[in-house]
Amino acid sequence: MCGHAQGTPREYAQAALDAGLAGLCFTDHMPMPAWYDAPWRMRLDQLAEYVDTVREVQAEFAGRLEVRLGLEADFHPGTERFVSQVLNAHAWDYVIGSVHYLGAWGFDNPEYVAEYGDRDLGQLYRDYYALVAGAARTGLFDSIGHLDLPKKFGHRDPEQGAALHALDVVAEAGLALDFNTAGWRKPVAEAYPSPGLTRAAAERGIPFVLGSDAHTPGEVGFRFTDALRQIQDAGGRVVTYAGRVRHA
Ligand SMILES: [Zn+2]
Ligand SMILES: [Zn+2]
Repeated sequence: MCGHAQGTPREYAQAALDAGLAGLCFTDHMPMPAWYDAPWRMRLDQLAEYVDTVREVQAEFAGRLEVRLGLEADFHPGTERFVSQVLNAHAWDYVIGSVHYLGAWGFDNPEYVAEYGDRDLGQLYRDYYALVAGAARTGLFDSIGHLDLPKKFGHRDPEQGAALHALDVVAEAGLALDFNTAGWRKPVAEAYPSPGLTRAAAERGIPFVLGSDAHTPGEVGFRFTDALRQIQDAGGRVVTYAGRVRHA
């Protein structure tokens, strides 16, 4: 329902079943205030339809596939009250908190990639990870989405301190990380988080939720075997969420 993905929830569930997964959790982009990133997400008045559609798929696949209801929320300072109201409106299983904007710049949008050339990368990442830490501190989310997202087009973090500090905050707040395999489909050709940050997270006891960030049914479960290997090599563990409670 975000306007930039294809396929019906039923097709995603069937793809999960065909891929041999035990279950999947839908995490469409959540509604935000009308002024924020409107073309890339469902409107607030479509939220009930989203919930109903996932519930129907849940019933249809009952006993064959565990279907859960989630959201990918945005952390953008000032919108917390709106987000909190949406999160209180339905019985979500799992809520990812993601940072997609630095100020008004949607830094993961290929249309605005030239902006990286006008930025100091160290400062960019310090600003970004300060927002990630802020997201973790809100208490609104179960996990942090695609941790090192600004590397998407190949602009890697020249430093490490801000990322490690953000991980300290994530660990302290008791959140998980979305292990997001979409990075393997992008120019950077590396999952989020990087192997180094996967290890740093595992060392802090932060668990991972497998995520393919699927925007077509064919992307469901994308490279999960490689994801498991990277997590296990780092000494990490995988969890899932149901009713916003973590399960091993
Ligand atoms: Zn999307
Ligand atoms: Zn995202």
